[in-house]
Amino acid sequence: MTADIAVLGGGPVGLVAAIALAATGARMLLVAPQAEADHRTTALLASSVTALETLGVWQACVPHAAPLRKLRIVDDTQRLLRAPEALFDAAEIDLEAFGYNIENRHLVAALEAHVRTLGLPRIAAPALVVTGHADGVTIKHAEGEARVQLAIGADGARSLCRAAAGIAMHRRAYPQTALTLNFGHGRPHHDTATEFHTESGPFTLVPLPGQRSSLVCVLEPKRAADFAALDDDSLSAEIERRAHSLIGKITVEPGRGLFPLAVETANVFARRRIALVGEAAHVVPPIGAQGLNLGLRDAATIAEIVADARRDFLDPGASDVLARYEMQRRMDVTSRSIAVDLLNRSLLTDFVPAHAIRGLSLYLVDQIGPLRRAVMREGVRPAASQPRLMRGEMV
Ligand SMILES: Cc1cc2nc3c(=O)[nH]c(=O)nc-3n(C[C@H](O)[C@H](O)[C@H](O)COP(=O)(O)OP(=O)(O)OC[C@H]3O[C@@H](n4cnc5c(N)ncnc54)[C@H](O)[C@@H]3O)c2cc1C
Repeated sequence: MTADIAVLGGGPVGLVAAIALAATGARMLLVAPQAEADHRTTALLASSVTALETLGVWQACVPHAAPLRKLRIVDDTQRLLRAPEALFDAAEIDLEAFGYNIENRHLVAALEAHVRTLGLPRIAAPALVVTGHADGVTIKHAEGEARVQLAIGADGARSLCRAAAGIAMHRRAYPQTALTLNFGHGRPHHDTATEFHTESGPFTLVPLPGQRSSLVCVLEPKRAADFAALDDDSLSAEIERRAHSLIGKITVEPGRGLFPLAVETANVFARRRIALVGEAAHVVPPIGAQGLNLGLRDAATIAEIVADARRDFLDPGASDVLARYEMQRRMDVTSRSIAVDLLNRSLLTDFVPAHAIRGLSLYLVDQIGPLRRAVMREGVRPAASQPRLMRGEMV
């Protein structure tokens, strides 16, 4: 064995997994090309922030992160049955903020710097071939070959590790594309994220430090492409119109992304000594800030399971150890994917009862205090999955 565990993929989930697994004392290998430049931002929920604090990474993120103290949901559809506007305040559940929004490039830079500080061995090139055997995993890469007890597939939605493990994905594509960009604005955001629900999907403004915010605008694919092709002034004016001038004059920054939306879930999260984390295991549409937060819980969970296995002198890649990973992640991933899917489809459908149910649910959550607080708590610290890192304890 050249290492005990290899992490394949250097996106945010792979880097967090590598840092957390290194804390178990396992000999690590990171097989990860430099992540591509990413203008997107991530709303990290409170438990994800706790995990990053515990790993010693959050301090470097603080100057780049904006607190999300309030969340406003506005039904901006023109439908007959519309939900009333709802405003949720983190102070109601004794939190300073629901979470923090940070540009992915700053998050990844902080994680990369921490990986370097820990001195984790890294092959800065993609894995070429991955093969799971009864007693180990072989990884061929640009610089040779490695053999490990356990491989962590953090290699994104088109995962080579997943294919090597023979794991299929269940996929549903949506007739929607997300346009993403960041922008400056004339009035302060007051640490409030605003999600407008429209007939084509959410239009979400999320605070960044200063008078800046990020946008995720979900549209029909053709309209998203048309929007993305607008010049800066026309696009700024269109966003301001859609935001009802809530935060004043908009000035878009360079860097626009288009992301076709789908929900995807792996049939099983681990097989043949290969465990999948992040988008290799599940993809959810960018609604309600779930995707990366789920991925960080994957990383924290596999690290915890490996730590326990090592304490008991067990093989961390053994099938019964990996069965625990499957068991601990399935409920969390399934429940979040279903919730996001239902909300998204209730916006897209013309089926009036679906609008009524969405409107009534939001109304009840808004009006009934204990329900309102329970939903907020579940949003930031899901009961189905609180690995030790998310509770502020080292793996
Ligand atoms: C528009 C949009 C907005 C979003 N907003 C949020 C949000 O606010 N909150 C949230 O929680 N989530 C959000 N998400 C989801 C979030 O972006 C993803 O969950 C997250 O980026 C997935 O990270 P990852 O590390 O799993 O995958 P990736 O970031 O895709 O990283 C995979 C890495 O693997 C590498 N790789 C690929 N093949 C190989 C190989 N063979 N060998 C080695 N490495 C390989 C790639 O180079 C890449 O660096 C959003 C998603 C979208 C589309």
